[in-house]
Amino acid sequence: MPECANCHAAPAAIEDIGAEPPRPWCPGCATALVRAGDPVLDYCRLGVDGDAYARVLAAGSTEALLFG
Ligand SMILES: [Zn+2]
Repeated sequence: MPECANCHAAPAAIEDIGAEPPRPWCPGCATALVRAGDPVLDYCRLGVDGDAYARVLAAGSTEALLFG
């Protein structure tokens, strides 16, 4: 599993496939983006933490979900 491209301190939970190259994010950094109003919407899940991110996204964003 790749490490987070932002903090390099945690394994990635999701991968932003809208970025080139695709950018891995850990749960903490991905959640921070949701809180900041700039969530990753075009992503693939990496394991169970990806499912947790999907729930954070559903709770913290008014954007339509692309997956789930
Ligand atoms: Zn991170």
